[in-house]
Amino acid sequence: MKTLAGIPVARGFASGPVFVFRSDGELPIPEYLIDPGREADELKRLKRAVATVRRDLESLVAVLKQRTGKEDVRVFECHLMLLEDELIQQEIEERIVNGRVNAETAVRKTMDSARSQFEKMNDPYFRERVRDFDDIERRLQKALAGCEHTTHTELKAPSIVVADDLTPSETVQLPREYVLGFATDGGSSTSHVALLARALAIPCVCGLGSVTANVRPGEKMLLDGTNGAVILNPDKSTQERFDILINRQREALEGASSKTPTGKLKDGREILLYANVHPGLPYTGMKELGARGIGLYRSEYLWLDRELEPSEDEQFNAYSEAVIAAREFGKDSVCVIRTLDLGGDKLVKGISSKEANPFLGQRSIRYLLTHRDVFRRQLRAILRASAFGHTAIMYPMISCTEELRDAAVELESVKRELAGEGIKFDENIAVGAMIEVPAAALSADDLARQVDFFSLGTNDLVQYTMAADRGNDSVSYLYQPLNRAVIKLVRMTVEAAKAKGIHVSVCGESASDPVIGTFWVAVGVDTLSMSATYIPGVSHILSRLSSEDLDEYAKVPDSLHPGATGAEIFDACRTWLTNKIPEIEDLIA
Ligand code: PEP
Ligand code: MG
Repeated sequence: MKTLAGIPVARGFASGPVFVFRSDGELPIPEYLIDPGREADELKRLKRAVATVRRDLESLVAVLKQRTGKEDVRVFECHLMLLEDELIQQEIEERIVNGRVNAETAVRKTMDSARSQFEKMNDPYFRERVRDFDDIERRLQKALAGCEHTTHTELKAPSIVVADDLTPSETVQLPREYVLGFATDGGSSTSHVALLARALAIPCVCGLGSVTANVRPGEKMLLDGTNGAVILNPDKSTQERFDILINRQREALEGASSKTPTGKLKDGREILLYANVHPGLPYTGMKELGARGIGLYRSEYLWLDRELEPSEDEQFNAYSEAVIAAREFGKDSVCVIRTLDLGGDKLVKGISSKEANPFLGQRSIRYLLTHRDVFRRQLRAILRASAFGHTAIMYPMISCTEELRDAAVELESVKRELAGEGIKFDENIAVGAMIEVPAAALSADDLARQVDFFSLGTNDLVQYTMAADRGNDSVSYLYQPLNRAVIKLVRMTVEAAKAKGIHVSVCGESASDPVIGTFWVAVGVDTLSMSATYIPGVSHILSRLSSEDLDEYAKVPDSLHPGATGAEIFDACRTWLTNKIPEIEDLIA
């Protein structure tokens, strides 16, 4: 038996055989024969992929034309020509139709034959063109990976997926019914796989360092996403302990979700429970899980895994889809769209600049305020989407009043521009600030004058308060959401919001933790936003508590000795909750 420790990023326990997913930074290129009669579907996939690559290349050329020299543009114009080349297209299509191979294989073989012809040429210029075929192929394979596969997947039985890291498209392509858990070498609580795992309620441990080097495919693994560990080749008693935990957890979740999640306390007071989403996540089922709106739309997902800013129209399409989906969640529903939150560990090749210390650099609103054209295009797209349903704008990483002032000037100017063009939007769109920097919490009374709501981004607030990288396992002992320093900042933010009569929510992951999320409600937060799959559990706990109970709960940290650590406060809160509601023990496990 061997135990590896990592970062717990999605709660829950799993037990099953290992499926090793190796991408080595490149997308795996599936090669298989398509079923007879599926040739037309495969040609359609190919056409969609070609159209995507064409669109990307055209916008790349347009942007480069404004920004750089002619040489750079020519390279991509040449790629466009190669993409459209009739002979190449014909060869790929013939391989699909006559050879019945999938589009990826047809592209690979066609590019291989083009490369070998060019490699033989004497002229160094033509030999260099081999690189162009590499590039075109990489783009096409990537676009094909984003299109639904007609048949193939290697994962054919329930397994724990072990990988060095997983991109969003890799993660979503895995068949959900066969994924028992994720264990990755790299990654952190904010990596793509972590966000998706939480959204899909799949237990996940990241930052295991060398799990891929330590496992063999098919070997037995236990995964503890609550505490951050995987166990290889477990002994009998450990296996039995996990079986009990997995069963108890399943029963607890079934119990919680059998009641309609309402977010109502025992005395009827309502706490708004919203969903955290990002582009690419399906919205179906969120209403049934109890989501009353979208409390955090992570817009930066439109930027990740590409080298270019999405166009205003592309953004508008994605935002309006979310706004329309949120409309279905209830009559008072809202869709809170967060402006671009790039930087820190969310870096995009070609857009993010190299910085010595990206977590303290030009991230989020700082990037937007120094790239006003990008900011304006995003504001235009959000405002246009606001014509389709109740929408709010939220600025991430606000540190000071100037940032809100400057953002407001830009927003007003964009509104005038749209009005001048006769484009519809919500003139009174609500504007909020994320409180995730200690300076923002400390000046919350000033910031409250400038916005309609606050949303506490506790993922970052904890990291910046404790000066502990949220993705670095070696300092994870400092990552304490219930450290007294963090509690003080949350209380200050809540008090400032109440004094000004504005809403205050928590949209960091701590909102979904039964102990911590409930504690934030106890100190006065009126909305919790989390991955929708956690809403039933949190709602179940809230339904068992009255406002009076919560007043008592809020005092738990004060009842401890002054030097109580974050871990001690957490334990005391957990004990208080489980004494009050004994049957939730398994939800909290
Ligand atoms: C947060 O910091 O709590 C937050 C919600 O933002 P993100 O996790 O996307 O940085
Ligand atoms: Mg954040």
